[in-house]
Amino acid sequence: VIDSEAMFKQGFLDDVFKERPMKPVVTRFPPEPNGFLHIGHAKAIAVNFGFAKYHGGVCYLRYDDTNPEKEEEKYFTAIQDMVHWLGFTPYKITHSSDNFQKLYDLAEKLITLEKAYVCHCDDTEIKLQRGGEKGATPRYRCEHASQTVEANLKKFRDMRDGVYKPREAFLRMKMDMEDGNPQMWDLAAYRIKSDTPHHRTGWDWKIYPTYDFTHGLCDSFEKITHSLCTTEFINSRQSYEWLNKVLGVYEPMQREYGRLNITGTVLSKRKIQKLVDDGHVRDWDDPRLFTLVSLRRRGVPPQAILDFISELGVTPSTTTIQIKRFEQSIRKYLERTVPRLMMVLDPIPVTIEDATETLDLELPFSPKDPAMGSHTVKFTPTVYIDRSDFREVDSKDYFRLAPGKTVGLMNAPYPIKATSFGKDEATGKVTEVRAVFDKEGKKPKAFITWVGTEGSQRVEARVHNSLFKSERPDDAEGGFLNDIHPESEVVYPDAVIESGIDEVKRRAPWPEAAGESERGKSGPEGVRFQAMRLAYFAMDSDSKDDKIVLNKIVSLKEDAGK
Ligand code: ATP
Ligand code: MG
Ligand code: MG
Repeated sequence: VIDSEAMFKQGFLDDVFKERPMKPVVTRFPPEPNGFLHIGHAKAIAVNFGFAKYHGGVCYLRYDDTNPEKEEEKYFTAIQDMVHWLGFTPYKITHSSDNFQKLYDLAEKLITLEKAYVCHCDDTEIKLQRGGEKGATPRYRCEHASQTVEANLKKFRDMRDGVYKPREAFLRMKMDMEDGNPQMWDLAAYRIKSDTPHHRTGWDWKIYPTYDFTHGLCDSFEKITHSLCTTEFINSRQSYEWLNKVLGVYEPMQREYGRLNITGTVLSKRKIQKLVDDGHVRDWDDPRLFTLVSLRRRGVPPQAILDFISELGVTPSTTTIQIKRFEQSIRKYLERTVPRLMMVLDPIPVTIEDATETLDLELPFSPKDPAMGSHTVKFTPTVYIDRSDFREVDSKDYFRLAPGKTVGLMNAPYPIKATSFGKDEATGKVTEVRAVFDKEGKKPKAFITWVGTEGSQRVEARVHNSLFKSERPDDAEGGFLNDIHPESEVVYPDAVIESGIDEVKRRAPWPEAAGESERGKSGPEGVRFQAMRLAYFAMDSDSKDDKIVLNKIVSLKEDAGK
C-alpha cells in the first residue's frame, strides 16, 4: 500500500497525470533482466505500479531483453518475485523479445520511409561524424546515409541473414544532425550479435534492436499512456517521440523522475559481483547489501520500503540518501508492528541462590499494543544474562551487575545482587555468576534483560554493521574494496532466546496486519521481533529445524552499537 496522498495526489506525478489525463492509465516497469533489483528499482516499481493503481489502471512488467549477452534465467524469476514481494501484480508479463518480428518489420518500414540506413563506419569514424572530441568539429553524415532504399533494404536483410560479421554493419536512424540534442544524431537501431543465443529466441536472430529503437516502440505496442523513466533519459525523450511519430504508431508520453541513490554502499552489478567473488559477502542476497533480495533476507518489511519511498516523494531531482535515513524509516515501522522478546547474545549463567522455584511470568508482546497478546516465560533459579551486563570490578558510574551490586531483571519479581563469580583461568573469561535476591533494597538504577534456562533455546545471531567504513566507498584510495569494514558482521553462535520465539514463529509473518504481499508468501524473514535492549531481528533462511539463525534488521536507535 502506497501513501497516495504523498505520491500521486500532488506534486510531480500529479502534474504528469494532469498533462495527459487519460484513462485507463497504462504504465510499465521495464527492467533489463541482467541483474538483481536494488533499492533504487523499488522506487521505479512504486512509481509505475503505484501510479497505474492509483488511477485505476494497469501496469505491465516488461523484461527489456534485447541484449542476449547479459541475460540469465535466474534474474527473470528474481525480478518477478520482488515485484510481488512489494505487493504489486503485473497486468501482464511481457518481453521486448516478444516483438522481435514486429520491430524488424518496422525497421524495414523506416528504411522505406528513408529514415534509416545501413552504415559500415567504425567507432572512430562515428565519433568524428558526431563532432569529434568534445564536439569541437562540424558534424556530418557518412556516404552510407545517401544509399538508396533498395540498397539499404538489401543490406539490412543481409545483416539479418548473417552475411556480415558483428560490427561490419549496423542500422542507423536518419534523424537530425543539425539538432542540438546528441540523441538526434543518427542513433543505432540494430546491431549484429551472432555469437550468443538469446535466452528466449535462441539462434533465430543474428541482429538485435537497440534500446533507442526498442523502448518507445514496445511502449507504443502496449499502448502505454505514461512512460515514466529516470532523468538520464531526458535527452532520449526527443528520439523516443521522433521514432513513434515517423512510423505513425500510437504515441505514449515519456516523463522523467529522479533516481534514488543511497550512500555508504555500492549498487552497481559489477561491484556487487566483485564483493561476492572476493568473499566479502556470501552472495547477492547477503543482508549487508542493498539489493531487494538482500533487504528481504535481512527482514526489512516490504511496507517499510514503500513508506520510505513515499516519504521521500517523487520529483525530477535525484534523491541521495544515507543508509541511516533509510534505517530510520524501517525502525519507525518495526517499532509499532512487531513483538518484543528477550534474547541474550553472549550468555553467562547467573545462579540466584535463594530462588527455590521456577515462576511462570505472563509477559505482553508489546507494552503499547495489548492486541498483540502475551506469552508465558519461565523465570528459573538460574538465568542467562549478557556478558556485557556484568563487570568483575564495580565502579560508581556503572549501574549493571557487579560483585556486591544490585541490578533489576526486566519483568522479574525482584532485583538481584551479585555475590561471587567464577572464571576460566585459561581464557580469563567469566563463566558463571552467583547472586541473591535483593528484596529490601532501593529500586535499582538499571534493568537488564535475561533468559531463563527452561523453555529457551540456543540460536545463532548475526549482527551486521555497515559493510563500508565511509559514506563514499567509491572515493576510497584504491577503490571501494579498500573501504570495507572489518567487522561488518559479528556472529554470536550461542545466543539464547526466550520461549516466546515459538509463538512469534507460529504467528509469522509479522506485522500480523501485513498486506497481501507477505501474507501466506513470506519466508523465514517474516519472523520478526524486537530483541529488547539489542536490536530488531528476523529469521534467516539458513535456519534449521533445531537451530534458528537470526539477522539483525536495524538497531533500536540511530548509531546504537549493537
Ligand atoms: P542499474 O544499472 O542500476 O541496474 P538500470 O537503469 O540499468 O539500473 P534497469 O533494469 O534498466 O536498470 O531498470 C529498470 C527501471 O528501473 C528503469 O526504468 C530505470 O530507470 C529504473 N531505475 C533503475 N535504477 C533506479 C534508481 N536508482 N532509482 C529509480 N529508478 C531506477
Ligand atoms: Mg537500463
Ligand atoms: Mg541495467
